[in-house]
Amino acid sequence: MADTLVTGADLVSPSGVRRADIAIDDGEIAAVGQDLPHEAGDVIDADGMVALPGIVDVHNHMHDDELFPDGIDFASQTASAVAGGVTTVVELPTQTPVTTPEVFLEKREACEELAHVDFGLVCGNVQDADIDIEGIIREGTRDFKTFTADPYLADDRTIVELMDRVGRAGGKVRVHCETQGIMDHARARIESDDPEVYMDSRPVEAELDAITRVGYFAEYADCPLHVVHVSSGSGAREGARFRARGEVPVTLESCPHYLAFSKEDVAEKGPFLKVNPSLKSPEEVQRLWDAVRDGTIDLIASEHFPTYRENRERGWENIWEPYAGLPSIETMLEFLVSEGVHEGRLSWPRLCELVCARPAAEAGVFPRKGLVREGTDADIVLLREESWTVSADDLAYNGGWTPYEGRKWTARVDTVIAGGAIAARDHEVHSEPGDGEFLHRGPRG
Ligand SMILES: [Zn+2]
Repeated sequence: MADTLVTGADLVSPSGVRRADIAIDDGEIAAVGQDLPHEAGDVIDADGMVALPGIVDVHNHMHDDELFPDGIDFASQTASAVAGGVTTVVELPTQTPVTTPEVFLEKREACEELAHVDFGLVCGNVQDADIDIEGIIREGTRDFKTFTADPYLADDRTIVELMDRVGRAGGKVRVHCETQGIMDHARARIESDDPEVYMDSRPVEAELDAITRVGYFAEYADCPLHVVHVSSGSGAREGARFRARGEVPVTLESCPHYLAFSKEDVAEKGPFLKVNPSLKSPEEVQRLWDAVRDGTIDLIASEHFPTYRENRERGWENIWEPYAGLPSIETMLEFLVSEGVHEGRLSWPRLCELVCARPAAEAGVFPRKGLVREGTDADIVLLREESWTVSADDLAYNGGWTPYEGRKWTARVDTVIAGGAIAARDHEVHSEPGDGEFLHRGPRG
């Protein structure tokens, strides 16, 4: 007898949607099929609901004791993740560097105590390429993060050197692509402190130039490249040129907020849309949707960055003051279903590729994650159709705000199963800190 049986769900995979029962045993998927024997410890009636593999979010910021205030830690933020259907996270360094095997292991151990969901880690932010690449890979990551922009700017030679060494070791370099020189020039022309000028300080050309340059860096150094948080449709097109050339593997990531908002929304939302790269024009948003639909963008990640509302409010007075970044992990799936699938911009299978299968493959955890099939981890999110208005009060996220406040959506996360157990229902978290496990992610095969 199975531990749990999910009955009658519309199960989504990258190849289609089919009606299925899902049997779960000992934390794994035991069987998927029609009319499985209805004998189980727990039966979840999913008639009328859509089932997806638990979401795999490969870009988020959740653990930095020096940067984040009390209460914002890996426990509260992975709780927010699981409430939104995200059952696997790959966390990236923020202010505190994670660039030695020792610090990597310390961070792993701290996060193991706190994790609500399974997690991987990334080496970064690399500003000096003279680090123990092989030692860090042995600790369980394949990913190295660096920047072409402040505050973690690495110079061109450092990025090339890092790519050379990481490429040979079987890793991948993730780059934040905005050229600092263009932004310095743009910023010097701005005198106002109003939120609306923020976008002018980070022009789209800064992104386009940086993507092009790191594309050639990667080809020169023979290193797989992952462009994080592409913020414009034009940026996606620049990145895709390098993938088409076929010299090195290139993956392009975008984020929900670059699809949900343009710079024209800043008049209303002000500092609650302060994010780097900045938001772009409505035309770029439209092009980005096209790129997400047609496969130019490989995957979507949340780029979750938590802050308290009080901190962000200060940006109304002076937009340069608060740290940039948006809380977004809990709302990612509901946004993409409500404004993507339900609006006819994405199919269910394409959504599944973007937030389940492809990110799991990039992270090196597919098909254990990102697919519901016999033998994979029992991570499942059930969605129901429901009209609702987004309010931070209804989220598990503890920062007290969401950029999506007031948005009218049509899909709601009903039940989240992680490792075979019910981890969340209706954004109420049932999992505990320590339920998640570290994912040791080896070099690329
Ligand atoms: Zn980031």
